[in-house]
Amino acid sequence: MAEEPEYLVIDLGGTRVRAALADRTLRISHRIEEATEVEGGPDGVIDQMTRMGRSLLDANRRLTRLAVSTPGPLNPRTGMVYSPPNLPGWGTLPLAARLEGMLGLPTDLINDANAACLGEFHAGSGRGHRNLVYLTISTGIGGGIIADGRLIEGSSGMAGELGHMTIDRHGPICNCGNVGCLEMLASGTSIARRFREGLASGGKSIVTEWVCDAPATARDVARAAEMGDPLASAVFTDAAEAIGTGVVNCIHIFNPDIVALGGGVTQAHGLFEIIHRVVEARAMAIPRQAVRVVHAELSGDQGLIGAAAAAREQEAKP
Ligand SMILES: [Zn+2]
Repeated sequence: MAEEPEYLVIDLGGTRVRAALADRTLRISHRIEEATEVEGGPDGVIDQMTRMGRSLLDANRRLTRLAVSTPGPLNPRTGMVYSPPNLPGWGTLPLAARLEGMLGLPTDLINDANAACLGEFHAGSGRGHRNLVYLTISTGIGGGIIADGRLIEGSSGMAGELGHMTIDRHGPICNCGNVGCLEMLASGTSIARRFREGLASGGKSIVTEWVCDAPATARDVARAAEMGDPLASAVFTDAAEAIGTGVVNCIHIFNPDIVALGGGVTQAHGLFEIIHRVVEARAMAIPRQAVRVVHAELSGDQGLIGAAAAAREQEAKP
């Protein structure tokens, strides 16, 4: 028999808000989804989450907690978010306390990449393992780390910012203040930017014929690379090698069972071949033989499942 729903879970993104119920086995039900009403600022989005949450609460009065996957930076212990880049115009905000006041449930916040990592750990490629490194590579790069079965949060809840490890210390300056971050070399945004820079310095590419005056996307670059276009291949290969380097760093630091890569960029043809080549050439033998570098298995529910896992962990604390 299916368990009763126990948690209200919300996955807040810059473009979509999803809400659902979850039981203690992390099974998700009653999904609802809307476009994020970003134009209303934090007040508007909190109202929207409250409305969506109440529509699920009305029929399910026995829920015990709310957990929200939300773009960081944030502190899961205080429930504060700090001007998330994916939610423009938001300053520092006690998001957990505001939602707790509106919905009347003890509320936990979890950074979206950490939530996706927990989801992948419990219900995706991490099932049956104890040590998982998760990277999501799309417009930005985020991550999460599970060591000995526990999500690493760190001193201020900011652990797992894998997109901001330096790959090239002579590389471009990142918004985070560091230089040559993985995100500056291999996110979808960066692949498109580096391709444009190549064109601006005189490079030629078939992509200019496809996109006319529109800016090329990372997807265009990947497709042209697949066709052997020299500029696109150079940009794409360099990004893939940067990801491979980041994966080698993670293998050396965490000795994981699984490195799972999710996000739009990881769907590009040929990416994993290059990553595997870098890992094969550069990772130390013993941790390399212990690890599998794989595609993340979940696409869609990982944030909701991860939020439910965070709620379950909080509930178990004394
Ligand atoms: Zn950075």
